[in-house]
Amino acid sequence: MLVLKFGGTSVGSIENMNNVRSIINDGTQKIVVLSAMSGTTNALVEISEQLNAGDRDNALELIEELLVKYAQVIEDLLQNKQLKEEVSKYVLSVYETLIEQTKSKYNELVHNTIVAQGELLSTFIFSRFLIQEGINAVLLPALDFMRVDQQHEPDSFYIQQNLNRIIDDNQQADIYITQGFICLDVQGQISNLQRGGSDYTASIIGAAIQAEEVQIWTDIDGFHNNDPRYVENTTAIQKISFDEAAELAYFGAKILHPQTVMPVRDLNIPVRLKNTMVPDAYGTLITQQVHGEGIKAIAAKDGIYAIKIKSARMLQAHGFLKKVFEVFEKFQTPIDMVTTSEIAVSLTIDDATHIDAIFNELEQIASVEVDAGMSIVCLVGNNIIYHQDTPQLFNILQDVTVRMIAYGGSNNNISLLINTEYKRNTLQKLQSYVFESEEKMVVA
Ligand code: ADP
Ligand code: ASP
Ligand code: MG
Repeated sequence: MLVLKFGGTSVGSIENMNNVRSIINDGTQKIVVLSAMSGTTNALVEISEQLNAGDRDNALELIEELLVKYAQVIEDLLQNKQLKEEVSKYVLSVYETLIEQTKSKYNELVHNTIVAQGELLSTFIFSRFLIQEGINAVLLPALDFMRVDQQHEPDSFYIQQNLNRIIDDNQQADIYITQGFICLDVQGQISNLQRGGSDYTASIIGAAIQAEEVQIWTDIDGFHNNDPRYVENTTAIQKISFDEAAELAYFGAKILHPQTVMPVRDLNIPVRLKNTMVPDAYGTLITQQVHGEGIKAIAAKDGIYAIKIKSARMLQAHGFLKKVFEVFEKFQTPIDMVTTSEIAVSLTIDDATHIDAIFNELEQIASVEVDAGMSIVCLVGNNIIYHQDTPQLFNILQDVTVRMIAYGGSNNNISLLINTEYKRNTLQKLQSYVFESEEKMVVA
């Protein structure tokens, strides 16, 4: 069986919902994972933030706006009177849930309950739309099988057992619809897989049912060689390996949630990226196979902190790095980049939760400087550090100040740390140095 995930834009308009309907209606049984309609999760996050800030009136206004939007969707999408009534009732129940949250004391559960409503709405509406169109669709509530453990990792055994049982109980259906993004936490309370998490839902489900393939349908024709939000003339990559995709997603390629390939990589289940608006475009196939050599794609991740730890005690001494790393270990803060000199080490983190405590501990052993507002620009491709064309990327040094370079940590990744204000320029310049120079670097 295939698992197909459709993102916010794909279910964000009547026209696109019709595209989705024709893509999935080919007579084969499949699981369809849906995101919230585009704009909805952002609106829900805004409602939650207003409540957190104590501005209930503003939150109520935003809830009303959302209700108006969905009333229009129902009007445009559903003609069948009975289904229309059923969906209207459901939307009203979501509205009541949101109102109830505005009366509760604000906490994480209130937030999680609010942001979950987008996927609950889109899947209910879309499943009824399919039924109206004569398609044998059934809604499988994600909260009946999707759960994370203490470490917020998918509880694979629980998911597999419950999902397969639910599918067995609904053998007669052609299309199983379920919510992306939402899950239960270890206490059984509503939670989620972080922003963009519907991709991750699809691959977790793919692993649980041993799917033939997981397809991520979105608003672009696959994985591009650079971030299309900042760079013109980027091109889609037809084939990319799990490792390359994971690295790019981790370092900011928004098209994939960073964890997406994890559940399917070891099971060797391919992930295909496709464009809902242009279904005939090839898209990108992600598998274990590695194709070509040289720089394949560039991505950038913001919100990075650079920490420079300097001590004369490092000179010709051993054990200093161990002490430094222990501090990060103690505060469970992962490090992304590291570079060293004889008397200093610079490293980066993106999780600033414990940055003050980390700073204080490091100050006991060295002098410490922290720079916020940094971005990691990551160049990924098979064997890039050995490829003859790779040095072209260093032309970037004439355009922007590069704070750190990580080269050779792996054969397939080179990372540059820059100030975020140079990001657009850096990505654009790298595009021309790396992909638009006369000789193409990647041999596909
Ligand atoms: P969805 O709502 O379908 O999950 P997302 O907005 O999360 O879609 O992801 C698709 C978007 O990711 C694209 O529209 C594009 O702007 C952005 N993006 C960033 N980097 C890349 C990349 N390397 N390749 C393709 N798209 C990218
Ligand atoms: N709706 C969620 C979000 O906007 C999850 C997703 O779209 O993947 O982040
Ligand atoms: Mg997404």
